[in-house]
Amino acid sequence: MHELPLSCAACGFPVPEVVVIGGLRRTACPSCHHSQRIDVEPFDYQGFAMGGPGRTPERLSAQAGFVTPHLADGARALEIGCAAGDLAQELRRRKTFALYHGVEFSPARDMAATRMDRVFTRPLQDLLASGEIEAGGYDLVLSSHCLEHLSVPSDVVAAMAQAMTPDALLFLETPNRSGHARLPFDDNRSHIHFFGVSSLTRLLARHGLETIAAETGARHDARYSDSLRVLARRPAPLRADPTLLSSHPRLAGVDRIVVWGAGRMVEEMLAYYLDPARIAFFVDKDAAKQGGVRLGAPVRAPEALEAGADWTVLINSLEFEAPIRAEIETRFGGRVDRIVAIAELLE
Ligand SMILES: [Zn+2]
Repeated sequence: MHELPLSCAACGFPVPEVVVIGGLRRTACPSCHHSQRIDVEPFDYQGFAMGGPGRTPERLSAQAGFVTPHLADGARALEIGCAAGDLAQELRRRKTFALYHGVEFSPARDMAATRMDRVFTRPLQDLLASGEIEAGGYDLVLSSHCLEHLSVPSDVVAAMAQAMTPDALLFLETPNRSGHARLPFDDNRSHIHFFGVSSLTRLLARHGLETIAAETGARHDARYSDSLRVLARRPAPLRADPTLLSSHPRLAGVDRIVVWGAGRMVEEMLAYYLDPARIAFFVDKDAAKQGGVRLGAPVRAPEALEAGADWTVLINSLEFEAPIRAEIETRFGGRVDRIVAIAELLE
């Protein structure tokens, strides 16, 4: 038996409450609702594959289906506690991978080695320290039903973050609290940490990772029918990108755009995400706006469309898109080649 520190491993709260279950102490964090064992019994992991059970086709399909919508082809993946490599096999059916590496201590690694490019048998922290695993080398890091077994999950999350490229994706799955919606607590002696949505997301946030998708009620098996699944990544820097809307295929081949609507979205949206060099002029029916300048381009009355032809008009309005489109077609149909709505550029 050994003792772990009292302070919350998820959020860092210094003095959580202490409760005793089955004669063993564990914490209850009032700040993030994390619970962790204080008294930890020894557990032999040599013959035990973490994440081993729950290998039904339905579960593997659900896990892969959670990850792949956010994943590009050609990723370099690293799975911590990959067991026999079932998830790797399922993901490889759906996406191409430049490489897929695993870490597994149990004998399941032999099967995993037939399904992956390489399987390591030492902790990730050691592999990074020795250079066997390259820092910043992976586009996707995964770990399913591992984190709850570790004394200091923060250390392995730090190592995972270190292994990730700046815009890599992290997939984690753990039991959601007890892991069963009807059981208030779980006394699986190999589980040291009992995560919930708030504690897992706060642990990730402390390592610079923002949770972009989360799901509870994910079925692992009958005992852990309520698992928690998250995808996290480093938040994008708050930087304007004038190509973001301008490069949309709906505007392809168009040099100069007429923007219909010089309202609030000019400053709130177009100023950051539409290249102002592409704007010929604005039109607006509000006489108070006519004669003004937005993003360096003049604001004119709609009649300005009568000069010239083959205009591409961007409807810069969400709520009046339909009436503006009807008005353009009725009044300026012969002059306008293409009508694009801001809503289309945001799809
Ligand atoms: Zn906490």
